[in-house]
Amino acid sequence: MNRVLSALLVASCVVSLSHARAEVTLLEPERVFDGSDLHDDWIVMVSDESILYAGPDDKAPGVSIDTVLKLEGQTLLPGLIEGHSHVLLHPYNETPWNDQVLKESEAERVVRAVNHVRDSLLAGVTTMRDLGSEGAGYADVSVRDAIDKGLIPGPRLLVAGRAIVATGSYGPKGFHEGVSVPLGAETADGFDDLIKVVRSQIGRNIDFVKVYADYRWGPSGAAAATFSLEELKTIVETARSSGRGVAAHAATADAIERAVLAGVETIEHGDGATPQTLRLMKKNGVALCPTLAAGDAISQYAGWEKGIDPEPERISRKRESFAAALDSGVDICFGGDVGVYPHGDNVRELEMMVEYGMTASDALRAATSGNADIFHLDGQLGRVKSGLLADLLVVKGNPLADISALRQVSLVMKGGVVYVHPE
Ligand SMILES: [Zn+2]
Repeated sequence: MNRVLSALLVASCVVSLSHARAEVTLLEPERVFDGSDLHDDWIVMVSDESILYAGPDDKAPGVSIDTVLKLEGQTLLPGLIEGHSHVLLHPYNETPWNDQVLKESEAERVVRAVNHVRDSLLAGVTTMRDLGSEGAGYADVSVRDAIDKGLIPGPRLLVAGRAIVATGSYGPKGFHEGVSVPLGAETADGFDDLIKVVRSQIGRNIDFVKVYADYRWGPSGAAAATFSLEELKTIVETARSSGRGVAAHAATADAIERAVLAGVETIEHGDGATPQTLRLMKKNGVALCPTLAAGDAISQYAGWEKGIDPEPERISRKRESFAAALDSGVDICFGGDVGVYPHGDNVRELEMMVEYGMTASDALRAATSGNADIFHLDGQLGRVKSGLLADLLVVKGNPLADISALRQVSLVMKGGVVYVHPE
């Protein structure tokens, strides 16, 4: 915490000196992962909020350097871009989802979110796509704006506000018909209603629309598709005319197919993707956000003792489905559904991506340049490249050799401001 406070003081000094020449910081790590490739002989210069230079030492521009950070044995990479978070949720083994939605006030949930976004930033996550407030209205929009105004430390947020669900599909459930409860999302159905709801969410200044293309409302509680193809197309067209994309929660092949044909940009979870639906996703440039760590955490909350008990069928199926997704060549987004498990433990998803068969370099690419491309942030973020925003992470060791090295955070910089200082 002291390191955060000192960073905030540094930030205010930067503002007061804004008429002076921008300070230049030189970072000298052992190696640089630039978002695509590893370089052993690179240095990085930061000026103001941007990367001034990234490349070999002998080609660096001749500018006077104010601060030198020697980072021996350490790896510099772009700040991580978490692709699937819920800053307004906390782990379900602390409080079940239903109770968070029904019993925690919006004020309590926002207070928790302030801690969650700080923990995420200190873990090296400098950008985060948040997949819905789950009953907390547009509090995510306000948290995003509070971070941007410099009121609290946190990653750059892309937020969905209230996710859109079909009538009858979403929870909390299990109450008799005389009891009305607040839902974890906003219901809408049919052409006129969906247009109105999407437009009202756009008016609240969400960054993208989240829709539940399926949910657990089958006859025996299994996941089944919710919206028709035409309804999903209506959502996508309405969002797109305002310059916004759509992310679809979809676990069944049926819902994935409808969502992809409708034009969504990402499929969240995707457990039931078939070879056909994966081909369709690849053909249409739709990325998969597999959320491996969420399923793993939920199975453990249900009593699975990982490493002792045999692997539950749900987990084995998820391993197979992730392997099939890798084989298909579909773009994989790094997004773990963090919030189901503790905020700040984002690296858990990357460790599982590697455990389930992805190379460490591909996992790092997904968490940096890959997600920047999927979320239309390329040109600003996700690479160590001159001209881009200085959102940087330095870790001890080499995460390409051992992805868990990402847990040894040494420096976190967002927009040129240092939030975690090297010791
Ligand atoms: Zn989620």
